[in-house]
Amino acid sequence: MKKILLLGSQHGNELLGEKLYHHIKTNRPELSKYISYKIGNLRAKKAGLRYIETDLNRSYNCGQKTYEQRRSKRIIQYITDNQFDLVLDLHTTTCDQTPCIIIPSINPDNSTFLNATFIDKIIHMDIDVVNQSLIGTYPKSVSIEVSKKQLKPGLLDKLADDIDRYIKAENNNRLAIVYQVHDFIHKDKISEELAAKLNNFELCNQGFYPVLVGEKSYKKQTNYLGFKAINTYDYKIVKN
Ligand SMILES: [Zn+2]
Repeated sequence: MKKILLLGSQHGNELLGEKLYHHIKTNRPELSKYISYKIGNLRAKKAGLRYIETDLNRSYNCGQKTYEQRRSKRIIQYITDNQFDLVLDLHTTTCDQTPCIIIPSINPDNSTFLNATFIDKIIHMDIDVVNQSLIGTYPKSVSIEVSKKQLKPGLLDKLADDIDRYIKAENNNRLAIVYQVHDFIHKDKISEELAAKLNNFELCNQGFYPVLVGEKSYKKQTNYLGFKAINTYDYKIVKN
């Protein structure tokens, strides 16, 4: 029997995982026996914050100094002890964009879910920073980003359908596009006016597709706005 982990609140203030878990328990009990649920950043969730010391999803494989670096070790230990077939790392974003999947590459470990999901935007994170995230550490994991505005029961049910198809190894024969990310959009290389005109997944006049850019990105304390994809290609169903 397939074992699936819903990992919620890898960022403490994001509740897609918790909501999906409750939706499945309440409305899709036939799926419950396949599903486990775990909170990623426990302390940040309690505090209602994104993180306490360091971003948990940038804390894998980089020592044990911060709370999140230690927490990432425990999460990986739990996942490997339980040998999950699939880990869904569930995020909520303030970015205005359709739901998307994030993976470090398309490979036999994640293709059964990529075939099954309704989500038609796949971000292939082809940059080194992925090695400090969960998806870069456990091959059978994928990240899902859903905008806060779209976090409604209909969407939760579509994700439950994805899990159902994954369990049955069925394909959702939709057209999906892969956006291959090769760089950050650095704030010091783009003006605030240009940044305001970027639309996620739409080719901009600078010749790239922005992804995961939010309206508040310019004001955040990072030095990048989001990510750049130059290559895009159609997703091809991988035979299971
Ligand atoms: Zn997140």
